[in-house]
Amino acid sequence: MRRKLFAGNWKLNGNLVANGTLLRGIKSGADAMQVELAVCVPAPYLAQCSEILAHSGIALGAQDVSSHTVGAYTGEVSARMLQDFGCRYVIVGHSERREYHCETNDDVANKAQRALAAGITPIICVGETLGEREKEQTTGIIHAQMNAILSLLDPHETADIVVAYEPIWAIGTGKTATPDMAQEVHAIIRHMLEVKSAEAGRGVRILYGGSMRPENAEALLRMPDIDGGLIGGAALRATDFLSIAAAAPSPDARQTEK
Ligand code: PEP
Repeated sequence: MRRKLFAGNWKLNGNLVANGTLLRGIKSGADAMQVELAVCVPAPYLAQCSEILAHSGIALGAQDVSSHTVGAYTGEVSARMLQDFGCRYVIVGHSERREYHCETNDDVANKAQRALAAGITPIICVGETLGEREKEQTTGIIHAQMNAILSLLDPHETADIVVAYEPIWAIGTGKTATPDMAQEVHAIIRHMLEVKSAEAGRGVRILYGGSMRPENAEALLRMPDIDGGLIGGAALRATDFLSIAAAAPSPDARQTEK
């Protein structure tokens, strides 16, 4: 049984005061949740957030990690450093990193491997642009992005990743993939994982990301291969983040409807 995961991607937002308010708001509603919650915060605030989240059950995550372990790489943050702050997750390959920092599929795969070696679960983002979707290249793009990961990781490591399908045209735009559109891509990803390892196919959580909101979350989360969400804008408001997580149908409900 895959436990649903909702990870907030705070991006370049927050400050000491706002972070405290947001995390206290999330903590106040988190206890009633059967799902797993995580917040991926800007690196300078890892210590602050780690302290606030201690013993809360809400996981701490980062938004990027270096593909290097140590050395002369100015500005980089290593997986070992994230481990020092108790990070359970790190986002890798977000489309904003791929686009603005020219990260390649191989860079993303290397970062995922570094995270795993430090005992941190990479949330690996994949997804197509609007132009690629319109040219019916979505499957090819997903294959290329996933293959870079699957060819580097061994089957055992693959079982420990989280994948986030984030159609780039839906990120921060208010446009969401329909549940059927998202499920179609999630099923492709699930199949690729299964081919690599039965354990990974069964157990890896595939999150949807792209303008997930309290209003559209439930329909997306009813899809059999959507195991939670990677949430940007709505994760900056505790009530919205919690409402999205609360929209996850219980495993029994989803089973009955199939
Ligand atoms: C994201 O950036 O990962 C994301 C899903 O953003 P938003 O929810 O704002 O579309």
